[in-house]
Amino acid sequence: MSKPEFWNNSKRYYDFKSYLVNRFGCRVYKLQIDAGFTCPNRDGTIARGGCIYCNTGFSMLRQQGPLPSVTEQISNGKKLYTRMRNAKKFIAYFQTATNTYAPYERLKSLYDEALSQDDIAGLAIGTRPDCVPDDVINLLEKYTKDYDVWLEYGLQSIHDKTLKFINRGHDARTFVDAVKRTAGKKINICAHIIVGLPGETHDDILETAKAVASLPINGIKIHLLLALEGTVLGDLYQQGKIRMITKEEYVNTVCDILEILPPEMIIQRLTSDGYRDIYLAPEWGKNKMDVLNSIDKELERRDSYQGAKFDSLVKSSAMPLCAL
Ligand code: SF4
Repeated sequence: MSKPEFWNNSKRYYDFKSYLVNRFGCRVYKLQIDAGFTCPNRDGTIARGGCIYCNTGFSMLRQQGPLPSVTEQISNGKKLYTRMRNAKKFIAYFQTATNTYAPYERLKSLYDEALSQDDIAGLAIGTRPDCVPDDVINLLEKYTKDYDVWLEYGLQSIHDKTLKFINRGHDARTFVDAVKRTAGKKINICAHIIVGLPGETHDDILETAKAVASLPINGIKIHLLLALEGTVLGDLYQQGKIRMITKEEYVNTVCDILEILPPEMIIQRLTSDGYRDIYLAPEWGKNKMDVLNSIDKELERRDSYQGAKFDSLVKSSAMPLCAL
């Protein structure tokens, strides 16, 4: 496979930064917003306790005191990115907790507030696949006339045994249903997956990647599993009950995933970062640039690209890869 020209970048995968420059012709940054949402997997509606890796503080901003308004958060983020990165446009990213977990009118009011700010080119909403009623999807579809709209669904794994172990509170079928209800509405769909989940083999992770590759999904965030203080997973790590993935395993797995994904899928994230104050492991994961450089080097060593195995492993597969 040769490198697709439309990537218009120097990478061996189609990164989000390049997509945004290609789409808007300028530097575009995502502004993280904590609008004060909670999560049905925490408050008892679906489950209590949340996913085993989720820290209870939600965001640093929330821990510092009363949350600033969406308008203030956007204004502060814009100042920072304009000064430090010469950003020209922004995507309002409702990131913290489950950002569709509120009555329709409340959601509309928050999204409208974000989109009414100057220089906002898009909207990104992070949520759970069991928390997206059709009227919310239809609301987001309306915004696509004027904005680049992303709906980000946490999947983490296509394996129900893993989802149960990590206390996700939904199954894989629910994710596929949400994707199918969102597809065809001009909303960009982004799937989040986690590499390094306890009990998963290399093949298990690649099956998750194949399922994502076979669905109408536009982008992906690949996260490294982190053990954080104050989480169930952090406790299991400290008790020596789970093993964290090594850097070599992670880099190899991420490259294998990239080879499986279609060349047009936009790679929004290739590792995890942040949580410095509660970070336990893996130690190597703290150096995000080193992880990204190692992925670049491994793809170069293989002389491979994102999508190199998509045709042979996914597109031409006789078996339905995601028949859920
Ligand atoms: S769905 Fe997200 S916010 Fe809710 S418990 Fe899981 S990781 Fe935390």
